[in-house]
Amino acid sequence: MPADTARLFSLLEESGKKYDNEKIQRAFLFAEKSHCGQFRKSGEEYIYHPLAVAEICAELNLDTDAICAALLHDIVEDCPGASLDLIGENFGGDVRILVDGLTKLVAIPFEDKEEEHIENLRKMFLAMSRDIRVILIKLCDRLHNMRTLSSHQEEKQRLIALETMHVYAPLAHRLGIQTIKQELESLALQYLDPIGYEEIRGWVETKYGENRHFIETVQTAVGEKLKSLNIPYSIQGRIKSIYSIYRKMYRSSKSFDEIYDFYAVRVIVDSEMTCYAVLGLIHEMYHSMPGRFKDYISTPKPNNYRSLHTTVIGKTGVPFEVQIRTAEMHQVAEYGIAAHWKYKSGTKSDESINKKLEWIHMLLESDQKSMDSEEYLMPLKIDIFEDEIFVFTPKGDVVTLPTGSCGIDFAYAIHSGVGNKMVGIRINGAIAPITTVLQTGQIVEVLTSSASKGPSRDWLKIVKSGEAKNKIRGWYKKEKREENIQLAMTEVDKEFEKIRKGLPDSEKERIMTAIAQRHGLESLQDLYNSIGYGGIALSKIHVKIRDEIERTLANQAPASLEVTQSHAEKKEQKKSKSGVIIEGLENCQVKFAKCCSPLPGDEIIGYITRGYGVSVHKFRCPHAVAGLQSPEKDRWVNASWSKNASEIQSNSYNAVLQLLVADNIGVMAAISTALADMRIPIAAINTQSSAENTSLLTITVGTKGRDHLNSIIERLKRNRDILQILVGGDK
Ligand code: MN
Repeated sequence: MPADTARLFSLLEESGKKYDNEKIQRAFLFAEKSHCGQFRKSGEEYIYHPLAVAEICAELNLDTDAICAALLHDIVEDCPGASLDLIGENFGGDVRILVDGLTKLVAIPFEDKEEEHIENLRKMFLAMSRDIRVILIKLCDRLHNMRTLSSHQEEKQRLIALETMHVYAPLAHRLGIQTIKQELESLALQYLDPIGYEEIRGWVETKYGENRHFIETVQTAVGEKLKSLNIPYSIQGRIKSIYSIYRKMYRSSKSFDEIYDFYAVRVIVDSEMTCYAVLGLIHEMYHSMPGRFKDYISTPKPNNYRSLHTTVIGKTGVPFEVQIRTAEMHQVAEYGIAAHWKYKSGTKSDESINKKLEWIHMLLESDQKSMDSEEYLMPLKIDIFEDEIFVFTPKGDVVTLPTGSCGIDFAYAIHSGVGNKMVGIRINGAIAPITTVLQTGQIVEVLTSSASKGPSRDWLKIVKSGEAKNKIRGWYKKEKREENIQLAMTEVDKEFEKIRKGLPDSEKERIMTAIAQRHGLESLQDLYNSIGYGGIALSKIHVKIRDEIERTLANQAPASLEVTQSHAEKKEQKKSKSGVIIEGLENCQVKFAKCCSPLPGDEIIGYITRGYGVSVHKFRCPHAVAGLQSPEKDRWVNASWSKNASEIQSNSYNAVLQLLVADNIGVMAAISTALADMRIPIAAINTQSSAENTSLLTITVGTKGRDHLNSIIERLKRNRDILQILVGGDK
């Protein structure tokens, strides 16, 4: 039976999105013609593969161009006569870019190497793709290849499965595409450890068989409760995936019985506030397992996953996990970056690549500290697209360098000995100047000679990487002390002339000696040596000389500072959105320090930060107390709350409460109900089991100020299960 596009088009239609069906049909016919006479390992006509890939892309609701590119993805590689230019002419520039990206990715070699190499591969993968759709199509391509892996030879199966596990599944995870990630992992595991896979599959079947109706019972009970309270919801049940169990058992060496989230129900509601309310209800219905609560809403996972997780124990003693999230959070949880296509109606694909990069930045931006300990991914730098390039050594190792790096940077990245002795480079086999700026994907070879006299000082101005700079300076520090000192003395003299002409040599020497002492250097010679090899920047010395001269002058004539003081007082109350007035600064950005969370009513002080306006601390915050005694004391400025009550009222100020509570069923529910009654927004909750039978609850709430907070605390204190309440930042 010949391949046809019926299923593809019905998938596209189901999406409800607009597609250019004519263009897609043309792409299919083009691919069918190009692949004509080619067969896959399974004996099937080749066209079935790109068609299947396009269907998976359609399930993710990728756009018209991506579907076309999926249909055409193997053509340039496999079909003589079908060029990129031809694709561009027929299907436009965007499809051409996508197919080009997909073709390039094929060239990245994969070998079973150490983790660092694999991480570099993942990065390179992302960097070379440029357009995020390339990666998405590639993931769909890999998924189909994995589904049909059985027709390959065993050796090949293992390598492809390994690559899937190490490169593709983590990429899918990082992009948040849970559905693809899970299927890739499950398929790869079947080839990498068929015995382990079968063993767990057997357990899962038995366990599930024993509690066949368990999940449905829970779903019904929770559903009825929500219905009775008129909370709109949807609810789903799931069993943990075989690979997740495998990982827990083999990597975290847990036993099968220690897997508490084998069963899970997922409650989807309409708002973040409702999530916390439902959490309270769940804890009212079931006994919660201490220490198993996770608030990924206030602290999202690195791939932007957001949800509340808690583990509770069912009526029959079976533990299960409850995940609570909004519909939007759920979309991101299932489809990650692909949710952009699936749920935003953007049909225009050329919205600008930047928009898409913003997305990936957002998803990759990771607070590494918030990563689960079981998260097996290495952190990925956010700025890979602009800031890093990836080049190969002739042996195929990937070297990561800052963008703009040249051959010299590369040589020093290999080894300082290679850099110090380099005389030339070859890029992709051709001799090139060592200062040539490198591009991602190039193969670079360094030519060295023992006759080399070492690095040139000019290189310091050319290289981009800190590593190369340090190594070149290191060489100068060791090899060229005399030269460094002479050079530095001339340079420093020029600086003196710029700052103040005609200072006597004795005065210059006094100043330089003082600077040397301040740097902890034993002699003036050492200081000059450091300046000479670049260990201390000349610009810093310039500033220090100026300071030193000013200080000398100030000592001679005491300054009158009084005059400027009352300037701020004269100005009347100023407008301020944050409700805070910073003396001497109008309309500045204000943020509240997390260390002490000041509230209206507290005595406060401001700190002028280097990047983000003024950060406001409590006057007694240890940071403020220490800061006022540090050399930075000038950055601390007077601050006060606005006298204008409406400015305060229109804001909500976060306060952090720490509650020591008895591990009692219902305490969570009581707290969330009390807060909801008072209409206090909850920004985050975290629990931690504490001493015996108690838990420590950290809740961030929005308040109108100190008095308001006190009334909240009074209300909470009425609950006898709350043993103690502390306000974060109060001492
Ligand atoms: Mn393919």
